[in-house]
Amino acid sequence: MASTINIISEKCVGCQMCAKSCPFSAISMVERPEHPKKLMLAKIDLNKCTYCGICNQTCKFNAIEIKLDTLATSIDKSLYKGVWIYAEQRHGVIHKVSYELLNKGKHLAKELGTTVGVVLIGDNIKAKAQEFINRGADKVYVCDDPILLEFQDEPYVSVFSQLIEKEKPEIILIGATDIGRSFAPRIAAKIKTGLTADCISLEIDPQTRNLKQTRPAFGGNIMASIVTPQHRPQMSTVRHKVFKEAKLEEGKIGEIVDFKVDVKTIINRTKFLGFVKDESTSIDISDADIIVAGGRGVGSVEGFNLLKELADLLGGAIGASRAAIDAGWIPYSHQIGQTGKAVSPKVYIACGISGHIQHTIGINADIIIAINKDPSCTMMKTATYALEGDMHEIILNIIREIKSCRCG
Ligand SMILES: Cc1cc2nc3c(=O)[nH]c(=O)nc-3n(C[C@H](O)[C@H](O)[C@H](O)COP(=O)(O)OP(=O)(O)OC[C@H]3O[C@@H](n4cnc5c(N)ncnc54)[C@H](O)[C@@H]3O)c2cc1C
Repeated sequence: MASTINIISEKCVGCQMCAKSCPFSAISMVERPEHPKKLMLAKIDLNKCTYCGICNQTCKFNAIEIKLDTLATSIDKSLYKGVWIYAEQRHGVIHKVSYELLNKGKHLAKELGTTVGVVLIGDNIKAKAQEFINRGADKVYVCDDPILLEFQDEPYVSVFSQLIEKEKPEIILIGATDIGRSFAPRIAAKIKTGLTADCISLEIDPQTRNLKQTRPAFGGNIMASIVTPQHRPQMSTVRHKVFKEAKLEEGKIGEIVDFKVDVKTIINRTKFLGFVKDESTSIDISDADIIVAGGRGVGSVEGFNLLKELADLLGGAIGASRAAIDAGWIPYSHQIGQTGKAVSPKVYIACGISGHIQHTIGINADIIIAINKDPSCTMMKTATYALEGDMHEIILNIIREIKSCRCG
């Protein structure tokens, strides 16, 4: 049964409280000339409504009726056991976020009194399983088949969903990488459960065994803790570098389970043509220790060439604000922030970036150096060191200084 929401016109007094309370601007007020007192009537835009229920709680006249999808009530949550980590690999190399999630997964599993499993999908990939056991996984499910050589949404979703339906894990953690962000929602939709994307903190509610999944919401202005109370498994994508990697331990014992992939059930409407490496950077910003980032103040592609020269001298990577991406000065893969990447460098040099929350939420740096014309902007106020002035001049001076030190 699909969820429904209705305004009971006999009860609605046109007070507008529901419209004011709706975080999604899904409620408007319409004229009601036929009403004896000409009271307005609330109207819900179903394209915007998320059935969050805030309007229903706000209405003092019980004039809003919500019936939520009752599918969940048929789920026996006690059948779902274990914390699972998706072991992301690209061309056979394990992404470090997988080991970070394993570390967190171990803690969550301990609190729940359950085991931690890892799902490894690819071709000829079994050799990578032992490292997860050495880092503390109790079980590694290996889905090995030539059809899974390169990541593609449909085959990976099909295999992962089959495994979930068979084994019924309680929690699944996936890295909030390009790959994770692409296929985690598809899995959640296929197995009919919830997904909280881009989490930065995870905790267990011991009373309910619900996973409290915390992520920035409403443009990064608040932190929202989200639970999946009715459905299982509970699924989250988690940002890279939020947790420390699970360490290698001596004498760890675990089980490697081969999951036979039923290739006949896999429908793939896409064809993998080839892999094109992003040549605009040699260091991925997610892994960089030093990031030189530019914003609208950089002003041009040439401005970014200057930042690149500095980044190369420092052995760092280039980052950018969305304003610079939107201007077309640098590819999206360099964007840092809410809708870009999360970074944890030792040093973050922010050039011509004002410091909007949607940008700074992606930065977890030991030292921030801001270079800006405006000393009152947030980035300058919150930086460890703030250099006031034209960034082009300042960067040129720094480059000159580094070069002269190296020559001398
Ligand atoms: C839902 C949503 C998601 C978003 N996601 C992201 C995201 O992931 N990442 C992100 O970055 N933004 C994101 N944004 C956009 C964000 O709100 C800001 O608009 C953006 O970060 C501003 O970028 P900026 O600081 O480069 O530009 P501005 O705010 O315009 O700041 C430019 C700065 O450059 C300085 N300046 C100008 N010229 C010079 C010069 N010659 N020398 C020195 N300083 C100079 C100015 O003083 C100013 O401080 C998002 C917005 C929304 C609504």
